[in-house]
Amino acid sequence: MKIRAVNLTRVFHIGLSRIAAVNDVNLEVNEEKFIAVIGPSGSGKSTLLNLLGLNDYPTSGKMLIDSKDTALLSKKERRKIRLFRIGFVFQTFNLLSTLSALENVELPMSLAGKPLEDQREKAVKLLENVGLAHRLDHRPKELSVGEMQRVAIARSLINNPELIIADEPTGELDSKRANEIVDLLFDLKKRHKTTIIVATHDQEIVEPADEIYKIMDGKLSHR
Ligand code: ADP
Ligand code: MG
Repeated sequence: MKIRAVNLTRVFHIGLSRIAAVNDVNLEVNEEKFIAVIGPSGSGKSTLLNLLGLNDYPTSGKMLIDSKDTALLSKKERRKIRLFRIGFVFQTFNLLSTLSALENVELPMSLAGKPLEDQREKAVKLLENVGLAHRLDHRPKELSVGEMQRVAIARSLINNPELIIADEPTGELDSKRANEIVDLLFDLKKRHKTTIIVATHDQEIVEPADEIYKIMDGKLSHR
């Protein structure tokens, strides 16, 4: 998937104050690219990723997917793109507390209407890939934070997305686990031509990225 942001801006109003959390950002990410966005807490990383992943609407500017303006999409079309073409790893994981690890990973496939056996087989494989074969039946509250993060990563991959957007995907992991996750993402890029956008404040994990951007007070610049 090819994505392009043109003068992308997202403003929040809190009382009388106005925050341009994403401020006039221009960015082009082509297929098979691994892009890292680094910046301190509060610099606008999550806000930018939510715009790029169609989880939010810009205040001004444009978000294009494969050269098409996403402002022209209906809610339903946006949802379809998010479900079938984008895998999102949220900073807060967004796991459903009543579902097991396995069921959380299966969920996007079941929303996409895939048969149960296929879901199960694939979800188990993905959980094995992130080192959680022994945690399939655990609920989120029975998992460590690092394990929840890995469940969220496995879930983001279940529908073979063309674009993976990961918001601090290694934030709660030790450096060995963090490197494994980065290797996994890099491998996806190579094998499936997946486009990958990662936000982080961890210098170490951006090493394999094709391009590194810095964000500061909502302003994006090439590093
Ligand atoms: P980061 O992910 O880099 O830590 P965020 O994108 O979460 O940064 O936030 C950027 C800025 O926007 C911060 O000042 C934050 O307080 C503000 N912000 C983010 N989301 C909201 C929101 N929903 N409402 C109001 N302000 C927000
Ligand atoms: Mg954030």
